[in-house]
Amino acid sequence: MSTQTRFLLNETDLPKFWYNVMADSPVPPQPVLHPVTKAPVTPDFLSVLFPMELILQEISTDRFIEIPEPVREIYKLYRPTPLIRARRLEQLLDTPAHIYFKNESVSPVGSHKPNTAIAQAFYNKAAGTKAITTETGAGQWGTSLAMACNFFGMDLEVYMVKISYHQKPYRRIFMETYGAQVFASPTDRTEYGRSLLAQDPNNNGSLGIAISEAVEVAAKSGGTKKYSLGSVLNHVLLHQTVIGEEALKQMDLAGEYPDVVIGCVGGGSNFGGIAYPFLRENLKNGQRTRLLAVEPTATPSLTKGVYTFDYGDTAQMAPIVKMYTLGHTFMPAGIHAGGLRYHGMAPSLSAFYDAGLIDAVAVPQTGTFEAAVMFARTEGIIPAPESAHAIRAAIDEALDAKAKGEKRVILFNLSGHGHFDMTAYQSYLSGDLVDYEYPAEAVAEAMKHLPQVEAITT
Ligand SMILES: *Cc1c(COP(=O)(O)O)cnc(C)c1O
Repeated sequence: MSTQTRFLLNETDLPKFWYNVMADSPVPPQPVLHPVTKAPVTPDFLSVLFPMELILQEISTDRFIEIPEPVREIYKLYRPTPLIRARRLEQLLDTPAHIYFKNESVSPVGSHKPNTAIAQAFYNKAAGTKAITTETGAGQWGTSLAMACNFFGMDLEVYMVKISYHQKPYRRIFMETYGAQVFASPTDRTEYGRSLLAQDPNNNGSLGIAISEAVEVAAKSGGTKKYSLGSVLNHVLLHQTVIGEEALKQMDLAGEYPDVVIGCVGGGSNFGGIAYPFLRENLKNGQRTRLLAVEPTATPSLTKGVYTFDYGDTAQMAPIVKMYTLGHTFMPAGIHAGGLRYHGMAPSLSAFYDAGLIDAVAVPQTGTFEAAVMFARTEGIIPAPESAHAIRAAIDEALDAKAKGEKRVILFNLSGHGHFDMTAYQSYLSGDLVDYEYPAEAVAEAMKHLPQVEAITT
C-alpha cells in the first residue's frame, strides 16, 4: 500500500486557465443594481472603480479564461501548492476516511489571497491605474494586495478596520514593508469617515465601513485610483479556481476522488476556488461530490441569513447584489476569525446554495480552535482561525465516516496559516474563548433596512 503523503505538481503543470463557473451555471445570473437609482448598473458605473478587463471577467460566460503570462510568472513563486494527505490526523481520529488538504498557506503572505491580488494588480497596471485603494479587516487581504502592487510598481492605500489596526500592528508593518500606506478606518480622509467620527470619535470601525471609505476615495479620484475587493465578486472567485484545478490533478495523482470538498466561507473566495472546478465535474461529468461551505455561528450568512438584494457595504455606496445576507447594518461580534466577518456572501455561491448545489454548516468558535490545535499537533501547521472552520468540518466528516464504518475521501482547503493569530490561540489555550450564536431576531431586525428593489427585479 502506498504511503505517499505529499502530492506535488511541477511548475509546468501550473494551470494556464481560470475556470469560470458562470459558463456552466444552471441558475441565471441576477442583476447588479446601482445603490442610489436601484437600476441595473452599467459597465460605465463599474469602470469608476474597476479596470475594464476585470468588469468583462465579472460578466463573462466564457468557460475558461487564460491566465496572463506575467501573472503565471508570479504564481510560480509559490504555485502549484502541495496537496497533502493528513495521515497523522487520520491516525489520531482512528478513522477509515482519507483526509487530504490543499495547502494555500505556502504563499509568501501565508494565505490564498495572492491568487486574485496578483491578477487584479496586473489588470490595473495594464489599464494605467496609478494607485489602488482597498480595505482590510484582519490584514490578510491588505498584505496580499500590498505584495502584488509592489511587484507591479503601483501605490496602495489600505483602509484597515481600526480595532485590527491597533490589535494587529504586525500586519500593518507587513503591509508597510511592501510599501503600502495603511490608515485606521474610520479615517478623516473621507466624507463618510468624518461623518462617523463626528458622531463617535472612538468608532472602532468595521469591514463595511472600511469598504465604504476605500470606495469613496477611488470614486472621487477622477480616474487615477481604482478600488480592489478581495472576495465576493465573480472575478475574484474566478482567479481562485487555480486551487481547484490543481487539486483535481493532484487527487488524480493520489488515485482517489473526493466524496466531499470543504472550505471555510467569509465572502466565499477560497471555497469557490477549490469547489467550483469540482462543481463543474458534478454538473458536466456525472461526479457526485458534496461541496460543503463552513461558516462561524457568529456570522451565519448562509445558514441563518436571507437570500435577497442587499448593499455590499454599510454606507450603501457599493452596488446592491442578490446574496445571502445578515443585513448591511450587521455589526459582528469580536470573534477571532476576522476574515469570516462579512455580512454577505458571493452572489454565485449564494445562488448555488439556494439551488441546492452546495451545502453549508455553521460551527462554533471553541470547537473550531479545538480542531485547529488537533491539526497543529498532528500535521505541524498552525492554521489560520478561518481555515480551522474547514478543519472542524473535515474532522466531523471523518468521525461520521468512522461511526458509519465508511471509507470516505475528504478534501479541504487550508486557506492560510495562523502565525499572526497568536492572541487568538492564547485566548483558546487559557480557556477564555466563548461561543456566540448570532440571534435570529437580529437578522429579522436587519431585514427592515434592506434596499427596496423588489418592484424592479421581480
Ligand atoms: C480572507 C480569508 C478567508 C475568508 O475569505 P474567503 O473569501 O471566504 O475565502 C479565509 N481564510 C483565510 C486564511 C483568509 O485570509
